[in-house]
Amino acid sequence: MTFGDFELEHGTVQCPVCESENTKITQKIMDIPHFSQIWLFNLTCSDCRYKHNDFLILDIKDPTRLIYHAENKEDYTTKIVRAANGTISIPQIGAMIEPGPSADGFINNIEGIIRDIQDKAIFLKKNAETEEEIEKINEYIELLNSYIDRNLPIDIVIEDPFGNSTIIPFDPAKLETFKLSPEEAGKLKTGYIIFENVKK
Ligand SMILES: [Zn+2]
Repeated sequence: MTFGDFELEHGTVQCPVCESENTKITQKIMDIPHFSQIWLFNLTCSDCRYKHNDFLILDIKDPTRLIYHAENKEDYTTKIVRAANGTISIPQIGAMIEPGPSADGFINNIEGIIRDIQDKAIFLKKNAETEEEIEKINEYIELLNSYIDRNLPIDIVIEDPFGNSTIIPFDPAKLETFKLSPEEAGKLKTGYIIFENVKK
């Protein structure tokens, strides 16, 4: 990835799961030129093995909905920065990635997200019980292949009640940004985790 400088900091915090004081926090501030700074952090608890990755965009704070209209190979390199509270939906392939208590933040490009969905479908196929189910999943895997191979037009929607998710567009003209009303933001699922007692 082509991020600029970043700084590193380490410390310990109280584990949100087992309340152990032995949870390591690793933090990076990533500078993305002409865009923003992103605070990336990772928590690892040595006692209960709890792990969590997440992001905070440091200068955008409104509930947001972003839509990128991808239609060619370059567009598929657009990066999606999904904080743990972000909901990604891709209407053309009927896919939705919702936050949950164990949801992690991630940065991936559009092609990578479609491949991840495909991996999950392949995993589901292993647990399929009927021929009909297997056939449906195979059709879905093939559908995703057609997007990956031919870069068909596809819309990536990301909604975040805390405005911490974003899209780093290949072509800014193909990105739409909306502020969500409090009602719309309130309907989104969250996997919110609050850290108190952050210690250095
Ligand atoms: Zn723990």
